[in-house]
Amino acid sequence: MQSRKINWRTIFEPWLNPGNWLPCQCWQCGQGLQGDSEGPFTNLLCYSCEVNLPWIRTHCLRCAQPTLNTSQFGCSACKNYPRWHLDECHSVLRYEETIREWLIGFKFFQQTKLRKLLGTLFLEGVVNQGVELTGQLVPVPLSKSRLRQRQFNQAQLLALEIQRHSSTVNLPKTNPITRKIQGSSQATTLDIELRRKNVQNVFEVHFTKLPDRVWLVDDVMTSGATLNEIARVLKQSGVAFVGSLTLARRLLDP
Ligand SMILES: [Zn+2]
Ligand SMILES: [Zn+2]
Repeated sequence: MQSRKINWRTIFEPWLNPGNWLPCQCWQCGQGLQGDSEGPFTNLLCYSCEVNLPWIRTHCLRCAQPTLNTSQFGCSACKNYPRWHLDECHSVLRYEETIREWLIGFKFFQQTKLRKLLGTLFLEGVVNQGVELTGQLVPVPLSKSRLRQRQFNQAQLLALEIQRHSSTVNLPKTNPITRKIQGSSQATTLDIELRRKNVQNVFEVHFTKLPDRVWLVDDVMTSGATLNEIARVLKQSGVAFVGSLTLARRLLDP
Protein backbone atom coordinates (compact mmCIF):
# COMPACT_ATOMS: atom_id res chain seq x y z
CA MET A 1 0.00 0.00 0.00
CA GLN A 2 1.20 3.48 -0.82
CA SER A 3 2.67 5.16 2.25
CA ARG A 4 1.01 8.41 3.17
CA LYS A 5 2.80 11.06 5.07
CA ILE A 6 0.09 12.87 6.98
CA ASN A 7 0.75 16.37 8.12
CA TRP A 8 -1.35 16.36 11.30
CA ARG A 9 -0.76 20.02 11.96
CA THR A 10 -2.33 20.95 8.63
CA ILE A 11 -5.25 18.60 9.23
CA PHE A 12 -6.17 19.94 12.64
CA GLU A 13 -4.98 23.53 12.44
CA PRO A 14 -8.06 24.72 10.52
CA TRP A 15 -10.20 23.58 13.45
CA LEU A 16 -8.19 25.68 15.89
CA ASN A 17 -9.13 28.75 13.91
CA PRO A 18 -12.79 29.66 14.61
CA GLY A 19 -12.81 31.38 11.23
CA ASN A 20 -12.84 27.98 9.62
CA TRP A 21 -15.88 26.56 11.34
CA LEU A 22 -17.93 29.68 11.85
CA PRO A 23 -19.99 30.54 8.76
CA CYS A 24 -18.79 33.13 6.24
CA GLN A 25 -15.08 32.63 6.80
CA CYS A 26 -12.59 31.44 4.20
CA TRP A 27 -11.68 27.79 4.84
CA GLN A 28 -8.10 28.35 3.73
CA CYS A 29 -7.05 31.66 5.31
CA GLY A 30 -9.81 32.36 7.83
CA GLN A 31 -10.56 35.78 6.36
CA GLY A 32 -14.15 37.02 6.74
CA LEU A 33 -16.15 36.72 3.54
CA GLN A 34 -18.84 39.26 4.22
CA GLY A 35 -19.01 41.73 1.39
CA ASP A 36 -16.65 39.64 -0.76
CA SER A 37 -18.88 39.17 -3.76
CA GLU A 38 -16.22 38.54 -6.39
CA GLY A 39 -15.92 34.77 -6.11
CA PRO A 40 -18.88 32.61 -7.13
CA PHE A 41 -18.62 30.39 -4.04
CA THR A 42 -17.85 32.99 -1.43
CA ASN A 43 -19.29 31.07 1.50
CA LEU A 44 -16.35 28.64 1.30
CA LEU A 45 -13.22 30.39 0.04
CA CYS A 46 -12.21 34.01 -0.40
CA TYR A 47 -11.60 35.20 -3.95
CA SER A 48 -7.83 35.25 -3.56
CA CYS A 49 -7.60 31.70 -2.16
CA GLU A 50 -9.96 30.40 -4.83
CA VAL A 51 -8.15 31.85 -7.85
CA ASN A 52 -4.78 30.73 -6.48
CA LEU A 53 -5.76 27.06 -6.36
CA PRO A 54 -3.83 24.85 -8.83
CA TRP A 55 -6.63 24.90 -11.44
CA ILE A 56 -6.06 22.98 -14.65
CA ARG A 57 -6.94 25.44 -17.42
CA THR A 58 -6.01 23.43 -20.52
CA HIS A 59 -5.44 19.71 -20.69
CA CYS A 60 -5.21 16.65 -22.90
CA LEU A 61 -8.78 15.46 -23.49
CA ARG A 62 -7.55 11.90 -23.82
CA CYS A 63 -5.83 11.59 -20.42
CA ALA A 64 -6.55 14.87 -18.52
CA GLN A 65 -2.85 15.67 -18.19
CA PRO A 66 -2.38 19.48 -18.05
CA THR A 67 -0.95 20.71 -21.35
CA LEU A 68 -0.34 24.10 -22.93
CA ASN A 69 -3.23 23.61 -25.33
CA THR A 70 -6.35 21.50 -25.08
CA SER A 71 -5.86 18.49 -27.32
CA GLN A 72 -8.14 15.61 -28.20
CA PHE A 73 -5.49 13.55 -29.96
CA GLY A 74 -3.30 12.65 -27.00
CA CYS A 75 -0.32 14.33 -25.38
CA SER A 76 3.28 13.21 -25.02
CA ALA A 77 2.29 11.35 -21.84
CA CYS A 78 -0.52 9.27 -23.35
CA LYS A 79 -0.52 9.11 -27.13
CA ASN A 80 1.22 5.75 -27.19
CA TYR A 81 -1.08 4.07 -24.67
CA PRO A 82 -2.65 1.05 -26.31
CA ARG A 83 -6.23 -0.02 -25.59
CA TRP A 84 -7.52 3.37 -24.43
CA HIS A 85 -11.30 3.22 -24.00
CA LEU A 86 -12.14 6.58 -22.43
CA ASP A 87 -13.66 9.09 -24.85
CA GLU A 88 -12.85 12.17 -22.78
CA CYS A 89 -11.08 12.89 -19.50
CA HIS A 90 -11.37 16.02 -17.41
CA SER A 91 -9.65 16.77 -14.15
CA VAL A 92 -10.01 20.15 -12.51
CA LEU A 93 -7.08 20.61 -10.08
CA ARG A 94 -3.46 19.51 -10.03
CA TYR A 95 -2.80 17.09 -7.16
CA GLU A 96 -0.64 19.46 -5.13
CA GLU A 97 -0.08 19.81 -1.40
CA THR A 98 -3.21 21.79 -0.48
CA ILE A 99 -5.52 19.57 -2.53
CA ARG A 100 -3.85 16.43 -1.18
CA GLU A 101 -4.39 17.55 2.41
CA TRP A 102 -8.00 18.55 1.77
CA LEU A 103 -8.63 15.12 0.24
CA ILE A 104 -7.08 13.43 3.28
CA GLY A 105 -9.33 15.50 5.57
CA PHE A 106 -12.34 14.54 3.46
CA LYS A 107 -11.52 10.84 3.04
CA PHE A 108 -9.99 9.89 6.36
CA PHE A 109 -11.48 12.42 8.79
CA GLN A 110 -14.90 12.82 7.16
CA GLN A 111 -14.89 16.60 7.37
CA THR A 112 -18.28 17.58 5.96
CA LYS A 113 -17.26 21.13 5.11
CA LEU A 114 -14.36 19.81 3.05
CA ARG A 115 -16.77 17.55 1.18
CA LYS A 116 -18.89 20.57 0.29
CA LEU A 117 -15.84 22.63 -0.63
CA LEU A 118 -14.32 19.92 -2.82
CA GLY A 119 -17.68 19.09 -4.42
CA THR A 120 -18.26 22.76 -5.24
CA LEU A 121 -14.77 23.25 -6.67
CA PHE A 122 -15.22 20.05 -8.68
CA LEU A 123 -18.38 21.33 -10.30
CA GLU A 124 -16.93 24.80 -10.84
CA GLY A 125 -13.90 23.33 -12.62
CA VAL A 126 -16.01 21.03 -14.79
CA VAL A 127 -18.26 23.93 -15.82
CA ASN A 128 -15.28 26.21 -16.53
CA GLN A 129 -13.73 23.54 -18.74
CA GLY A 130 -16.91 23.52 -20.84
CA VAL A 131 -17.71 19.86 -20.26
CA GLU A 132 -21.01 18.73 -21.79
CA LEU A 133 -22.44 17.50 -18.53
CA THR A 134 -25.24 15.19 -19.68
CA GLY A 135 -25.84 11.51 -19.04
CA GLN A 136 -25.33 9.32 -16.01
CA LEU A 137 -22.72 9.71 -13.28
CA VAL A 138 -21.03 6.46 -12.24
CA PRO A 139 -18.76 6.73 -9.18
CA VAL A 140 -15.71 4.44 -9.24
CA PRO A 141 -16.61 1.71 -6.72
CA LEU A 142 -14.53 0.73 -3.71
CA SER A 143 -13.99 -2.87 -2.71
CA LYS A 144 -16.40 -4.13 -0.01
CA SER A 145 -13.62 -4.32 2.56
CA ARG A 146 -12.47 -0.77 1.94
CA LEU A 147 -16.06 0.49 2.00
CA ARG A 148 -16.58 -1.25 5.37
CA GLN A 149 -13.41 0.33 6.68
CA ARG A 150 -14.15 3.87 5.44
CA GLN A 151 -17.97 3.76 5.75
CA PHE A 152 -18.44 5.78 2.56
CA ASN A 153 -17.21 5.99 -1.01
CA GLN A 154 -15.60 9.38 -1.63
CA ALA A 155 -16.36 9.13 -5.37
CA GLN A 156 -20.07 8.62 -4.57
CA LEU A 157 -20.13 11.72 -2.34
CA LEU A 158 -18.39 13.85 -4.96
CA ALA A 159 -20.83 12.61 -7.62
CA LEU A 160 -23.71 13.56 -5.28
CA GLU A 161 -22.33 17.10 -4.95
CA ILE A 162 -22.18 17.42 -8.76
CA GLN A 163 -25.67 16.04 -9.21
CA ARG A 164 -27.05 18.34 -6.51
CA HIS A 165 -26.07 21.34 -8.64
CA SER A 166 -26.72 20.00 -12.10
CA SER A 167 -30.08 19.05 -13.60
CA THR A 168 -28.62 17.47 -16.73
CA VAL A 169 -26.94 14.48 -15.11
CA ASN A 170 -28.46 11.74 -13.02
CA LEU A 171 -26.96 9.55 -10.35
CA PRO A 172 -28.82 6.27 -9.80
CA LYS A 173 -29.10 4.98 -6.24
CA THR A 174 -27.40 1.73 -7.22
CA ASN A 175 -24.05 1.79 -8.96
CA PRO A 176 -24.20 -0.28 -12.18
CA ILE A 177 -20.55 -1.23 -11.68
CA THR A 178 -19.17 -3.38 -8.86
CA ARG A 179 -15.61 -4.17 -7.92
CA LYS A 180 -15.79 -7.95 -7.87
CA ILE A 181 -12.27 -8.74 -6.69
CA GLN A 182 -11.48 -7.64 -3.17
CA GLY A 183 -7.76 -7.98 -3.27
CA SER A 184 -6.70 -5.77 -6.17
CA SER A 185 -3.76 -4.19 -4.43
CA GLN A 186 -3.22 -0.46 -4.48
CA ALA A 187 -0.60 0.06 -7.14
CA THR A 188 2.29 2.23 -6.08
CA THR A 189 3.76 2.62 -9.54
CA LEU A 190 2.80 5.22 -12.10
CA ASP A 191 3.45 2.75 -14.91
CA ILE A 192 0.13 2.41 -16.75
CA GLU A 193 0.86 -1.08 -18.07
CA LEU A 194 1.47 -2.44 -14.54
CA ARG A 195 -1.57 -0.62 -13.21
CA ARG A 196 -3.64 -1.90 -16.14
CA LYS A 197 -2.76 -5.49 -15.26
CA ASN A 198 -3.56 -4.81 -11.60
CA VAL A 199 -7.16 -3.79 -12.35
CA GLN A 200 -7.85 -6.13 -15.27
CA ASN A 201 -11.16 -7.99 -14.84
CA VAL A 202 -11.72 -6.44 -11.41
CA PHE A 203 -15.00 -4.76 -12.35
CA GLU A 204 -18.31 -6.08 -13.58
CA VAL A 205 -21.56 -4.57 -14.82
CA HIS A 206 -24.72 -5.76 -13.11
CA PHE A 207 -27.31 -3.64 -14.92
CA THR A 208 -28.90 -4.89 -18.11
CA LYS A 209 -30.13 -1.46 -19.22
CA LEU A 210 -27.40 1.14 -19.35
CA PRO A 211 -27.49 4.72 -20.65
CA ASP A 212 -25.73 5.74 -23.87
CA ARG A 213 -23.60 8.26 -22.05
CA VAL A 214 -21.67 7.75 -18.81
CA TRP A 215 -19.35 10.00 -16.82
CA LEU A 216 -17.15 8.10 -14.38
CA VAL A 217 -16.42 10.09 -11.23
CA ASP A 218 -13.43 9.75 -8.89
CA ASP A 219 -11.33 11.89 -6.57
CA VAL A 220 -7.86 11.43 -8.08
CA MET A 221 -6.66 10.29 -11.51
CA THR A 222 -3.12 8.88 -11.56
CA SER A 223 -2.41 6.77 -14.63
CA GLY A 224 -6.06 6.37 -15.61
CA ALA A 225 -5.79 2.55 -15.61
CA THR A 226 -8.78 2.02 -13.28
CA LEU A 227 -11.00 4.46 -15.17
CA ASN A 228 -9.91 2.94 -18.47
CA GLU A 229 -10.73 -0.59 -17.30
CA ILE A 230 -14.23 0.48 -16.19
CA ALA A 231 -14.69 2.22 -19.55
CA ARG A 232 -13.72 -1.03 -21.29
CA VAL A 233 -16.27 -3.02 -19.29
CA LEU A 234 -19.05 -0.45 -19.85
CA LYS A 235 -18.38 -0.27 -23.58
CA GLN A 236 -18.41 -4.04 -23.80
CA SER A 237 -21.91 -3.80 -22.30
CA GLY A 238 -23.03 -1.37 -25.00
CA VAL A 239 -22.43 2.12 -23.57
CA ALA A 240 -21.56 4.43 -26.48
CA PHE A 241 -19.69 7.20 -24.63
CA VAL A 242 -17.62 6.88 -21.46
CA GLY A 243 -15.81 9.92 -20.10
CA SER A 244 -14.19 10.61 -16.76
CA LEU A 245 -14.44 13.49 -14.30
CA THR A 246 -11.83 13.58 -11.57
CA LEU A 247 -11.27 16.26 -8.99
CA ALA A 248 -7.48 16.08 -9.02
CA ARG A 249 -4.81 14.90 -11.46
CA ARG A 250 -1.42 13.55 -10.44
CA LEU A 251 1.05 14.75 -13.02
CA LEU A 252 2.89 12.19 -15.12
CA ASP A 253 6.35 12.62 -16.54
CA PRO A 254 6.15 13.44 -20.24
ZN1 LIG B 1 -8.86 32.88 1.83
ZN1 LIG C 1 -2.74 12.79 -22.85
